[in-house]
Amino acid sequence: MVSQCPGAVNIRMPRLEIRECPRCKEDIEIVSNESSAKCSKCGFVIYNDLLSCVEWCEYAKECVGDRTYDRVMKEIAERQSSAAAQ
Ligand SMILES: [Zn+2]
Repeated sequence: MVSQCPGAVNIRMPRLEIRECPRCKEDIEIVSNESSAKCSKCGFVIYNDLLSCVEWCEYAKECVGDRTYDRVMKEIAERQSSAAAQ
């Protein structure tokens, strides 16, 4: 039996979190199972670090489910390729 890691709880049981925009200090609402959220005021994109456990955890697929795993890995790959392009 795999014990549940703290990161997976955030993915399986989404909750709304408020982050402060680093650019304009506006509150940004981010759901814990979304990989990113955009500031409604200035458009700055913040990333959700909670999802990073899926990237390295060997039990991630069983932990969060195949569909969520595939979606998160795709988003991480897109994030890395867009970061590399800059
Ligand atoms: Zn902002």
